[in-house]
This record gives sequence, C-alpha cells and structure tokens, in this order.
Amino acid sequence: MKSAELRTSFLEYFRSKGHELVASSPLIPANDPTLLFTNAGMVQFKDVFLGREHRPYKRAASSQRCVRAGGKHNDLENVGYTARHHTFFEMLGNFSFGDYFKREAIEFAWEYLTRVLKLPEEKLWVTVFEEDDEAADIWLKHIGVNPERFARIGASDNFWAMGDTGPCGPCTEIFYDHGPEVEGGPPGSPEADGDRYIEIWNLVFMQYNRDKSGELTPLPSPSVDTGMGLERLAAVMQGVHSNYEIDLFQNLIRAIRDMAGDADPDSPSLRVIADHIRSCSFLITDGVMPANEGRGYVLRRIIRRAARHGHKLGLTDPFFHRLVGPLAAEMGEAFPELVKAQPMVERVLRQEEERFAETLEKGLRILEDDIAKLAGTEIPGHTIFLLYDTYGFPVDLTGDIARERGLTLDMAGFEAEMDAQRERARAASHFEADYHGKIDIEGESTFTGYDHLDGSGRVVALIKNGEPSDVLESG
Ligand code: ATP
Ligand code: MG
Ligand code: MG
Ligand code: MG
Repeated sequence: MKSAELRTSFLEYFRSKGHELVASSPLIPANDPTLLFTNAGMVQFKDVFLGREHRPYKRAASSQRCVRAGGKHNDLENVGYTARHHTFFEMLGNFSFGDYFKREAIEFAWEYLTRVLKLPEEKLWVTVFEEDDEAADIWLKHIGVNPERFARIGASDNFWAMGDTGPCGPCTEIFYDHGPEVEGGPPGSPEADGDRYIEIWNLVFMQYNRDKSGELTPLPSPSVDTGMGLERLAAVMQGVHSNYEIDLFQNLIRAIRDMAGDADPDSPSLRVIADHIRSCSFLITDGVMPANEGRGYVLRRIIRRAARHGHKLGLTDPFFHRLVGPLAAEMGEAFPELVKAQPMVERVLRQEEERFAETLEKGLRILEDDIAKLAGTEIPGHTIFLLYDTYGFPVDLTGDIARERGLTLDMAGFEAEMDAQRERARAASHFEADYHGKIDIEGESTFTGYDHLDGSGRVVALIKNGEPSDVLESG
C-alpha cells in the first residue's frame, strides 16, 4: 500500500465513523507564541480542547504536517541515526471534542489496525500510563490483548503534552514489532529505545490544561487526541523496517543519488538530505524564511546541515533546491500549496545554498586541520566560535560533524568566547557613541541595545541549550 493510499484509507475509515475531515494547518501555529512549529495534529484544535473555541462538529480527523526540530519535541538530532524519526512527518489523527472517550478511541484504533489494515495482533504491543486502570481494563478485558504484550509506563512516555503549557493528559500507545533481526527491547524494558518495537500510534486522553506554574486544571470536557506517523505506518504496511525505505523516501533518495553519481547507497547523508528537503520546503511554503533568529534560524540550521551532508556526497555546487521538484511530484497531490510555492521555495533554498557555499568549504578545511591536531576528543571552544562567527556554522552543525567522528564540543569554551565577543561589542558601542557624540552615555544602565551599532554590524542569534534564543545579539 502506497503512502498516499494509506493516508486516504485512514481518513476514509474515520469519515465512516462520523468524523469531519479537516485539512492540515500550516507549520506556523496561528496565534500561538508558545509553540515554535506545529508538532502534532492537535495543535490546530488547541482552543477547541480548552473550550475557548467551538466547531460545528465533535469528531474530526486529519493528516497534519508536523515539524519537530526545536522546542519540546525535537528530533533533529535523531535524523540519520534512527529508522523512525524525521524533522518533517505527517501525523494521522482522530479527535473527539467532548464526544467519545477512552473506550471508543481504543476500539477505533484496534479495529483500524487489525480489521482494516489486517495487521496481526501478535505484532502489536500496547502501553498505558501506569496509573490509568481504566485504559488497562479496556485493553485487557474488553479488547482482549495478550498481557504479555502489554505494559504500564510512567509519565515520561505516557503522559503527553503539546508544550510546557497547554492541553495534556495520560496516553496509551501502540507499537509494532519489526522482528528479532532488529535490535531493541519491548516497550517498558531498558532496551526499549532501539528500533525493533516502533511506536506507531499514540492515543491521548486530553483531560487537563497545564498553566505556566505547572498546575493542572481539568478541561471543560474530556477529549481524545490521537497521532499516528504516516511514514511509520507505511513502513509496516510496505514490509520494510526503516521509514526511509518507504515509497516516498525511496523516490527522493533516488533523485539525490542521480545527482551524486557514485555515492554509497547506504550513506546516512542520503537519508538526512531526503528528510531535510521535506522540512525545509514545507517551512518555506508556510512562510518561514532563513534568518538569524527564531523560526528562521531553525530553518537556516537545517538547510546548512543538508548542504554539509551534500558536500560529503561530493555535491559541492548548490543541489538542494533541485530536490523541490521531486518532492512536489511525491507530495504535491496531497499538498497543492507546495506545488504553488515551488518556484519560491527553489529560489529561497538556492540563495541560501549559494550564500553558505562560500564559507562551508573553508570552514570545513579549518575544522579538519583542527581535528587532525587534536590531542583529546573535544573540539575546542575557539574553533567552534570561529566557525560560527566567521564561517556561518551553526553550533549544531559543528556538533553533527563531531558526533560522526566520536568527538564532543567544548561548549563552556564556546560560551566564554561568546561572552568575550559581547564584551568587545559593548566596548565598541561606547566608543562609537562617544565618537559621533550623538548618544549621551551616563553609564551602563542607559545602554539599550545593539540595534544602532554598526561595527561588524551582523546580527546573530545565540544558542542556549541547543535552541536559538529569540534575543538578538550583536555579532
Ligand atoms: P518516539 O517515542 O518514537 O519519539 P513520540 O512518542 O515522541 O515518538 P508522539 O508525540 O506520541 O511521538 O507522536 C505521535 C506519533 O507521531 C508517534 O506515535 C509516531 O508514529 C509519530 N512520530 C512522532 N515523532 C515522529 C518523528 N520525528 N518522525 C516520524 N514520526 C513521528
Ligand atoms: Mg519522540
Ligand atoms: Mg514515544
Ligand atoms: Mg508517543
């Protein structure tokens, strides 16, 4: 079953169960400053769950485009390393707004997987939140799943939240066993992080709203929010283990290999680029532009990572933008907005690639020289800083290279360099103001920011804990 057919099959099943089919919302959440990107199907329904907004229907289903490359759910560092994570993916979901609750949600999911898709029960594993006896009873007594393939799990995995605040609740998850050839233990075991038992569907029982102080208050009416990765389900249905082996990705990977003639067909770079073209194209389609802060900086970081992986495959001329066409061929039917935006997306990517190409080559050479001279296994702070400041290497890009070599980054050293840089900028700003005699400096406290500074004049974003801070800093 092709990915596109699977998407239709899911939506049609839930339409037949009285669900309104709702189109995917854009990747930039409307009016929600708490969220970097749409990271789940429920995002466009957040206010419905909270009781602030009412819709003419109580059941809905969608295939929502999602990006998890920052914020609470961040899978950027998993891409290229696991069989199941993307920065961009589609989340199939059914929703109940104060209509059905645990029992029907579980019945629907089980019926769809075992009757419609005809997946064998012995391949499916189920987890519930450890305190949720009601869900456990439904699975064990009502549905009759085998207790040997059932586990109770703590809040870290089975209490779902969109972000640090907002709707949340206990959940129950369904896993697919890809068989003993793959490494990894069953859900709940210490080896559960492997790729043998892959989580395919998460059913969240939306019961609470979490406020800034962390306090939970019950929602006006208990609701259901489910999410199932289309790519993970497609892998199961197409009998392959890795998401990257499904139809959609194979065509993208073929397009990359056509450009990079003799690339090793097993190179993780192929998968990384195939992943990144999806997130970058859809982010630009939805209005994000490469920038030095906020969402635009996340986009820039992903494009630069893709450019570096292309470089590894010998693609030293701009190539990334040439994948928008093959992507539109795969996904344009489901997402006509991508086809409409294609020329714009290509232009933006090309520009960004050309801009980075100038410094990527030099920066890589400097890094290689430094690594060759390295005594230990840590890339020094001044190298990370030089690459960042002069060659436009986001810190996570240097980190990506380090990880491939089994090296780490001296982040404390990097932060010290950044502090010194800020100090220099501050000193320069006092001098400039004095020199032009326009600003009357009475002391540190009157200093209001760097916006008027020229000097090197570049404005950059800081990385704090691996995330770009929204605060602009002079670079
Ligand atoms: P995992 O534990 O595998 O990281 P998750 O628990 O973080 O997944 P949820 O937040 O429960 O994922 O999202 C619902 C569903 O969306 C998952 O069951 C999975 O099928 C899919 N999904 C989540 N993250 C990704 C991703 N990065 N790439 C592809 N599919 C994903
Ligand atoms: Mg996850
Ligand atoms: Mg999980
Ligand atoms: Mg989950």
